[in-house]
Formats: sequence, structure tokens, C-alpha cells
Amino acid sequence: MAGTRDYYQILGVPRNASQEEIKRAYRRLARQYHPDVNKDPNAEERFKEINEAYEVLSDPEKRAQYDRFGHVGPSSGGPRPGDFGGIPPDIVDLFGDLFGFDFGFGGRRSHPRPERGQDVQVEVTLSFEEAVFGTQRTVEVTRWEPCPRCNGTGMEPGTRPVTCPQCGGTGEVQQIRETFFGRFVTVSTCPRCNGQGVIITTPCQECGGRGMVRRTRQVVVEIPPGVDEGTLIRLAGEGELGRHGGPPGDLYVRVHVQPHPLFKREGQNLLLEVPINVAQAALGDEIEVPALDGSKVKLSIPPGTQPGKVIRLKGHGVPDMRNPNRRGDMLVTVRVVIPKKLTPEQRELFRKLGETLGKTPTPDERNFFEKMLDALGEALGK
Ligand SMILES: [Zn+2]
Ligand SMILES: [Zn+2]
Repeated sequence: MAGTRDYYQILGVPRNASQEEIKRAYRRLARQYHPDVNKDPNAEERFKEINEAYEVLSDPEKRAQYDRFGHVGPSSGGPRPGDFGGIPPDIVDLFGDLFGFDFGFGGRRSHPRPERGQDVQVEVTLSFEEAVFGTQRTVEVTRWEPCPRCNGTGMEPGTRPVTCPQCGGTGEVQQIRETFFGRFVTVSTCPRCNGQGVIITTPCQECGGRGMVRRTRQVVVEIPPGVDEGTLIRLAGEGELGRHGGPPGDLYVRVHVQPHPLFKREGQNLLLEVPINVAQAALGDEIEVPALDGSKVKLSIPPGTQPGKVIRLKGHGVPDMRNPNRRGDMLVTVRVVIPKKLTPEQRELFRKLGETLGKTPTPDERNFFEKMLDALGEALGK
């Protein structure tokens, strides 16, 4: 069970292991026992245990407390690993390492490098019209922010850090080992103060010494006209807090668009289907079609319009996201509706019309029939 075993044993490191060694051991074990990778039924329990050990041993304050008392008191609080909503950025970084790139060998860092904060992504669902014309949305973002009580220092206000007793303020510790081959001196980052030379003995009551707190904020997002399904809107600097003085990450807003009962969209073009009757198709007509903004647009149907003809209304489409003055077109597909029921008078008119048209198709259609018969003739070897 978690908690009953020694944290050093769990990670398989000596009691004087450096932070770097602990991190390496954790990374190796986490990779081995991650439940996505390891299907052993005990793997998950083991993974939790590893995380618990790492959470304590990677934090110089908690580690010191653990070394002294054999456990970490409830005051250390904070989100626990495994709770993915609340993973502190350092653990998230580690998972980045775990599944992504490796730092390779080399360098202890005695001074932590500034690191950019993680990006955060939220989703918004817009109506079809909102996506075309643009809108404003307020989204909720939960992210790590500097602790307002200690201004990000991790110290209870009014207190000061003290010189690290383990390294005497140098930030480095020496280890001397006597071996067969002689005496080895290794210098590593002080595990107690993480190379800072000072430690905080009175951690901030609000953030528990972490220097940052998890906050949910309302962020107003300007959505430009012309966005589409899957568009990502970037809000620079609105992501997670950077570490060691690094810049914050960005906030990405992913757009989803609901369908419209009449219009469809193809890039910057709006697609609309309009029914007309046979007389309008044959004689031509001037009709009005709806525009997306609720107005009406005149559409002229030329005489002899065939079913399925597409008529282009220039500039009545979707604005360009980058240049809203440039708009796509509206493409109107004409659907010719053949009447299913006729009044006696209409039936009479159609009959007369039929007589004048005769049995022969129009010249275009005659060409079609002749070509078809030719093709059939060739196929039959005539
Ligand atoms: Zn604080
Ligand atoms: Zn130290």
C-alpha cells in the first residue's frame, strides 16, 4: 500500500540522492509503470506509489520534513499527482519528457533555467452566424497563477528565507567517495535548496510554499468574422504561468460551429439551395433569396435554367478572417420542382404545352440521344 514503504526505496535511490537522480529514477519508473503502458494489474498502484514518493522527494521542503519525521504533514497540502486537473507544472513538464523528447546527458543545472508556461486550450461552440460575422465570448480558464498572498515567492509575508543548512548557502554539495581507484569528489546541486542557497522555513499559508495557486478566470475572447470549425484563436500570454521567470504560455480557443438549417459553408463560400417552379426555370424570373444577415438578395434566374444550375452571388459569402473586407460568394443551387398535383386548369395548360413541344426532344437532347445510340451501335458491332 502507498505510504507504508520508504519513499527512497520506492524510487530505488539512496537517501542522499540528488534532485537530478531522483528525477531520473522517477522518470524511468513512471515510464515503466504508467498504466497506459503497463497492463499488469498492480501497475496502477505502483504508479501511484511512485508519484507519491516523487511528490515528496522532489520538493526540498517536503523531503526535509520527511527525512526528519518519516512522513509529510497535512500542511504540505496542494494538488496530488494523478489528479490530472491539478498537476503542478513541474510534473506536467516531466510528463512532457516522458512521452516526448529527452534532455539527453549532461548538465546538472545549478540554476534553474527560465521555462515558458504551458499552453492552455479551451473550446467554444458558436452558431453558424456567429462564426461568419464574429462575436465576443467569455471563457473560463483554470490555470496556475502567481500566489497573490506571497507574490509568488512561496514565503509567508513578513518572513525571510534562511541560509540552507545543508550547503551553507553555496547551492552545491560535495560528496567524497573512497573507492579502489582512489578518491572521488562529486559536486552536485544541493538537494535541500535546489541550488538556491536558501530555504523557506515559513511557507506561505495560501500556496503552501509553491508560489502559485490554481485559479479559474473569465477571459474575454474576441472572435473575428470568418472563423470555421476547428479554427484556433491564440491569446498570447493567457496560458499557464512560466517557471523561474519564464514567460507564460498561450491560451488557444478552439472553435466549433453549429450547422444552419438553410446555409452550408465551403471555405468562404456560402451554399444555398433554392426551389423554383418549371415556369420560372423555362421563362426566367427575378426572385429574392435570404442572406445570412436576415436581409434579402435579388437573384435573377435566366430563361432556360436547368435543374442543379449554380448561380453565383458575388460578395455575399463569408468574410476573410484576416481581411474582413474581402468576402466569399453565395452559391445558389437551383432546384426545379415538378408539381405533384395539378388543378384541372393547370393540367389543361400542361397538356397544350406538351402538344406544342411534341414528342421530339430539344436539339440538345437530340444530340444526347444520337450519341447514345451511336455508342450502343458501336458496342453491338454495327
Ligand atoms: Zn503564496
Ligand atoms: Zn542548499
